[in-house]
Amino acid sequence: MTDLLTLDDVARAYVTRKGLLGRRSTVRAVDGVSLQVKAGETLGIVGESGSGKSTMGRIALGLERPNEGAVRFDGAPMPLAGTPEWRDARRRMQMVFQDPLAALDRRLPVLTQIIEPLAIHKIDTDPARAGLEALTAVGLSRDHGARFPHELSGGQRQRVVIARALMTAPDLLVCDEPVSALDVSIQAQVVNLLIDLQQRSGLGMMFISHDLRVVRQISTRVAVMYLGRIVEEGPAADVLRTPAHPYARALVSAAPAPGPRRTDRVILTGEPPNPAARPTGCAFHPRCPVAVARCRSEAPPLVPIASGRSAACHLITPFAKVAA
Ligand code: SF4
Repeated sequence: MTDLLTLDDVARAYVTRKGLLGRRSTVRAVDGVSLQVKAGETLGIVGESGSGKSTMGRIALGLERPNEGAVRFDGAPMPLAGTPEWRDARRRMQMVFQDPLAALDRRLPVLTQIIEPLAIHKIDTDPARAGLEALTAVGLSRDHGARFPHELSGGQRQRVVIARALMTAPDLLVCDEPVSALDVSIQAQVVNLLIDLQQRSGLGMMFISHDLRVVRQISTRVAVMYLGRIVEEGPAADVLRTPAHPYARALVSAAPAPGPRRTDRVILTGEPPNPAARPTGCAFHPRCPVAVARCRSEAPPLVPIASGRSAACHLITPFAKVAA
């Protein structure tokens, strides 16, 4: 499979100030992240609020420029936002965000909104037919197309947003918490829809979520983020079944999972991560149940720990040493 999207050692920092005369400080929302999304696969990005997941999604779409590192889409550097080249790339990359109501215009029937991308991207096709096909593809009918957003349920609205995203036949879909505002039973339906669409069209997906149950359902690979860095990455089945990094272990053990009730739960203590106050050394050390002295002063690099799998922890033996 070819790499559709590549982030290479990407960093994004913001300057913040506390109050009018407060001290300026730099927050590194994303810090040295490298990843790839291939055609036909879903990369799940998980982590608590403040881990940098959403910033990564915006960088992937070219909506934010990284301060460091490079972003490539389909083998070429991501064009500058607003240029014709970027608009062309954006036609091939679409997004689905958490709140479908905010993404839709309350004053327009949904079919009108679904076909908007055809005009924006000057796609020469019959809009009425293409709109109805898109409605059908997401499990909605002509009748739904005539309604206004407030006349639909939350799940139906998210289906409308997905239908609109599909109008440009994208190669990459970036989904940022796309089902977290929906009821659990509806979440499964929307996730199954995304899986079905991916299997039919072969698009690559970046699926950002704090909900491991949902990520487990849809992801091929998973990247676990903590305070702007990837701390573990690998095949979803491996990472979510036998997480290696202490933070990934805590996240997985706290998430509901199929099968018998777990007796080895790791309870995550301490404050959730604050990007403005990154601890020294391994940023997870104040909450890590197995931290050692070295963790307070030395940041562990992300290194291979098995075939296709990496982690950043002083206590995990790198793959090369295992194999030696
Ligand atoms: Fe815990 Fe240390 Fe590993 Fe960080 S490097 S996860 S603090 S053991």
